[in-house]
Amino acid sequence: MLTDPSRRDVLRQFGALGISGAIGQLYSGSLFAGPGGATGGLERLVAGEVVNRGDGQYEAWRNSMVWHLRKPERYPDTIIRAHSEQDVSSAVKHATDNGLKVSARSSGHNSTGAALRDGGILIDLALLRDVEIDADRKTARIQPALWSEQLVREAGKHGLAFPAAHCPTVALGGYLLGGGAGWNHAHWGSVACYSIKSADVILADGRKVTASADSYPDLYWAVRGVGPGFFGIVTELELQLYPLPQAIYTSMYISPIDNLQTVVAALDKLNQIKDERVEILLLLMHDPQAPENTPPTEAKICMVGVNAFADTEKDAKAMLAPFADSELASASVFRLEDQPSSFAKLYNPENVDTSIGRYAVDNVWTDDPGQALLSLVEHFKKTPSPRTHVLCSYGVKPELREDACFSRIANHYVASYLLWNDAENDGANHAWLKQTNDLLEPFSKGTYINETEATLFPERVKSSFSEDSWKRLAELRKKYDPGKVFHTYIGYS
Ligand SMILES: Cc1cc2nc3c(=O)[nH]c(=O)nc-3n(C[C@H](O)[C@H](O)[C@H](O)COP(=O)(O)OP(=O)(O)OC[C@H]3O[C@@H](n4cnc5c(N)ncnc54)[C@H](O)[C@@H]3O)c2cc1C
Repeated sequence: MLTDPSRRDVLRQFGALGISGAIGQLYSGSLFAGPGGATGGLERLVAGEVVNRGDGQYEAWRNSMVWHLRKPERYPDTIIRAHSEQDVSSAVKHATDNGLKVSARSSGHNSTGAALRDGGILIDLALLRDVEIDADRKTARIQPALWSEQLVREAGKHGLAFPAAHCPTVALGGYLLGGGAGWNHAHWGSVACYSIKSADVILADGRKVTASADSYPDLYWAVRGVGPGFFGIVTELELQLYPLPQAIYTSMYISPIDNLQTVVAALDKLNQIKDERVEILLLLMHDPQAPENTPPTEAKICMVGVNAFADTEKDAKAMLAPFADSELASASVFRLEDQPSSFAKLYNPENVDTSIGRYAVDNVWTDDPGQALLSLVEHFKKTPSPRTHVLCSYGVKPELREDACFSRIANHYVASYLLWNDAENDGANHAWLKQTNDLLEPFSKGTYINETEATLFPERVKSSFSEDSWKRLAELRKKYDPGKVFHTYIGYS
């Protein structure tokens, strides 16, 4: 089964750590065809382009709001591409004055296409992607559509870093609002939203307020974890940055999936002793090197990537050494150890597959990743699409804070990323995901809102929050958006 010692295809997948990275090149925005055909009163109020339903360009614009190919059948009346914070404020005020609903989009990576809603105004923030680094204070001021890779690159110029998403083109806006499980986040303060120092928010009346620990603390609490159901639009964020690791090293181990028991037993032990700066990502995947006539059930592999975010080569290698000495390594049929890496390499477009597809994702936080993964093996072998994979992020830092509504996490994270080609296979893939969720349920400590399939399973939005946080969010929604101008979560009203 493991035919090519160069393992190039697998390496490409590992380049940005799995499908998240692989599909990350497929950003929206390039489909914009320009203004064209705008009608109504909004275009007089904003500098940005406005397209209304019925305009010739409307469908191209609508499609470009969601990066994957499974476009939701939801149709805003108007899409505006904001040129400035003032545009956002004017559009929101216009919506409030005219009884219209509003949604926002940063990079359109949300798998449910949460920004696409029926009726009202969709405000596309894609052009709002400025970044300013304050090296002395170790902070960044960013606009919401800034891509993860752009922030990491700019911060890196000042010897600084941030736990940005694993995929280069995921915007910080939606990523941070929902929590943010990114590079080295166990070491950099758990989920990335805890590193938000302040957020500028446009409220339903068009007013801008700054939410921080000292100003609008309830709004600040909500910004840090609310996900795709916020009652405002974030136009700027101040973020805490961290010293850039000077030596990033990587190891990779591949085994047939039938070795999974040994692999997870080894990882359970390694996770106990690993340095906080070591990130372990396990992927169940189809072997891209499997000969074409291999039955799909016999072509599944388990790949483990280990990244050490250290400051010296010596430290990095010491952090990776326990992996090389473990049963993880001895059970592997392929291994590549102690490879020098960098954020530029981890995000390198040449290392990632740029094909696109129909996409769905769901997940659980769990304290028992080994049993959770083992419960999936036979089911995973029968996945309807060879492009689908399951990821387990080991040893996240399960920290919860009173000043953030982010309120569900456990020691590990298991997520299923489904990618397939044809609409006719939607049903089979959705059913497979439902069964996956059912199999993982006994091991679940809650879900992560940024990667739940809310259109198919709306209850998973709620299971991303503690009961107290869910109740408080509803109260704050009433306080800040009494007229229900902003769309709440898909599946909720
Ligand atoms: C390829 C890929 C890789 C990913 N990798 C990771 C990863 O490594 N770690 C991780 O934690 N997650 C990851 N994700 C999940 C990602 O965090 C979520 O999909 C997130 O919602 C994407 O943000 P976005 O700005 O593109 O959202 P969009 O799709 O643009 O917006 C979704 C919703 O978020 C809200 N929203 C977005 N921006 C704003 C704003 N400025 N103000 C108010 N509300 C806003 C709105 O409700 C909007 O409807 C990945 C997703 C993909 C597709």
